[in-house]
Amino acid sequence: MGFLADSIGRIKPSPTIAITGLAKELKAAGKDIISLSAGEPDFDTPDNIKQAAIRAIERGETKYTIVDGIPELKAAIVKKFKRENGLDYKPAQVTVGTGGKQVLFNALVATLNPGDEVVMPAPYWVSYPDIVLFAGAKPVAVPTRLEDGFKMKPEALAAAITPKTKWLIFNSPSNPTGAAYTRAELKALTDVLVKHPHVWVLSDDMYEHLVYDEFEFTTPAQVEPRLYERTLTLNGMSKAYCMTGWRLGYAAGPEPLIKAMGTLQSQSTTNPSSITQWAGVEALNGPQDFIPKHNKVFKERRDLVVSMLNQSKGITCPKPEGAFYVFPFCKGTIGKTAPSGKKIASDEDFVTELLAAEGVAVVHGTAFGLGPAFRVSYATSTKDLEEACRRIQRFCGNLQ
Ligand code: PLP
Repeated sequence: MGFLADSIGRIKPSPTIAITGLAKELKAAGKDIISLSAGEPDFDTPDNIKQAAIRAIERGETKYTIVDGIPELKAAIVKKFKRENGLDYKPAQVTVGTGGKQVLFNALVATLNPGDEVVMPAPYWVSYPDIVLFAGAKPVAVPTRLEDGFKMKPEALAAAITPKTKWLIFNSPSNPTGAAYTRAELKALTDVLVKHPHVWVLSDDMYEHLVYDEFEFTTPAQVEPRLYERTLTLNGMSKAYCMTGWRLGYAAGPEPLIKAMGTLQSQSTTNPSSITQWAGVEALNGPQDFIPKHNKVFKERRDLVVSMLNQSKGITCPKPEGAFYVFPFCKGTIGKTAPSGKKIASDEDFVTELLAAEGVAVVHGTAFGLGPAFRVSYATSTKDLEEACRRIQRFCGNLQ
């Protein structure tokens, strides 16, 4: 349609949101569907956070706020970075938006010019390439390997950097693979970045708290202080604090960048919800004890899913360090015939046929830039996970 902007023609609706929507529709139509496609915890927001929001409403905290965050929330974020990451930021280096996604959008749109390149390991979170494309720049995907636990090697990073590279988007633990980089693995990457002073680092730490088996989370600006001046460290409340619907994300970095991001936000959405911001203050300053409790459950589910998927014919599923996703390869199913009579030629066919035959919704790996694979979110009840994995085993076993 000629009326629409070129920029909108370069992007597509989020495939994960589309598949989750389709699963909901099928369920509403009475089909027996188990959805393993959503990127959100199944736990409810902790009560102290809800109560803080209710109190904020009662106090009348219902007006516009400072565009990029109330001082109380910025102070809580400054404290969080110091306490959990050993990073020193001033409140003026902090920005708050309506979800991590808006903060990421602000950062990329405020910095990218046509022709700029943004390096990202693949598989990547679906929104990275599309926001880069929207901004008129070029996503440069660096494929990773199953054998390397889907982690980018320093040589691959070095080979992807050109004079046009503006950002590296780094995401550990990763959506969609759950892979998290150890300090040594991260240091090997930051050693490469130190040699390329024109490249900025956008570290998406959204799944920071969701790591298992005593894994120690680290972030680039912490591992390599020389990158501090060109790193934007991004985080949010959605995953660890079970606040996906509240919409609150934040980032810290060099002041001129933070200021530009605030300017963009002031001309689009203005402040994130005042009530949500007060809930965020409580989330960051209040008790954190529900996080290890949730993680214990997540870890058990991860182990269950990895074990059951590895018993499915044609599937190989590595055990990742964090997040609430696994990313099994389904190479062994390609070329086979599904119960419907359709030949499985791609991972997209695999997930479509799996949904049709067994009512299990997962997202195809190529949507995240690497296949043939699929993403399983285990942020759902253990009972449903067991049943879904049994169905995947049956589906794979029935392929001809
Ligand atoms: N980054 C990653 C890797 C994600 O998976 C998500 C959500 O799925 C986000 C950022 C954005 O989260 P939100 O906008 O809910 O803060």
